[in-house]
Amino acid sequence: MIAENINHIKQEVGHNVKLVVVSKFRTISEIQAAYDAGHRLFAENKVQPLLERYEALPKDIEWHLIGHLQTNKVKYIAPFIHTIQSVDSLKLLMEINKQAAKDGHIIECLLQIYIAQEDTKFGLSKEECIGLLNAEELKTLNNIKITGLMGMATFTDDLQQVEREFKSLKSFFDELKAQFNLPGFETISMGMSNDYNLAIACGSNLIRVGTKVFQ
Ligand SMILES: *Cc1c(COP(=O)(O)O)cnc(C)c1O
Repeated sequence: MIAENINHIKQEVGHNVKLVVVSKFRTISEIQAAYDAGHRLFAENKVQPLLERYEALPKDIEWHLIGHLQTNKVKYIAPFIHTIQSVDSLKLLMEINKQAAKDGHIIECLLQIYIAQEDTKFGLSKEECIGLLNAEELKTLNNIKITGLMGMATFTDDLQQVEREFKSLKSFFDELKAQFNLPGFETISMGMSNDYNLAIACGSNLIRVGTKVFQ
């Protein structure tokens, strides 16, 4: 079932959209089934389960973190994390850089932008994001690479609102790309099980899907 779900979604979205399978709340054997189907891109939203799964599963998995990250926990995931999609401050970015510098590798980072009309979602406002990208300190961070933006739409049945929010992330992405010199700034992470087709229609090239893979 899991293998069929993954293949179905991959066929549906095509080669230009990356599928990150969200494995939070799943058992090791469920995640292993997705791995055995050939999938290598997984995401967790919390540090502790991420560490446990990293330990238990094959080491060629590309792990993404998609939930809020406290500065004091960066050191635990820095040795192996591929991408942190939930960067929401310069302070956090500086700590990620510091930890990645310890063994000289580079951690990819997406800036999480606040697009929803809810106050439960983390992220930077557009103004804060521009402030971060203008910060002098950024130029000294050689062990992080900002590869794009991540956003979460409002949890609502109102598809027009969700569409407006996705479109606003895409146009902000285009603005930043034109305004700043950011090599490798290519990723727009938006869309989950219920709304990834809409997200892709609005310009997403990375979707984060849990429920629809494991159902
Ligand atoms: C859980 C989660 C997802 C996946 O949600 P599904 O509806 O299960 O596909 C995507 N992004 C984030 C940030 C999540 O926390």
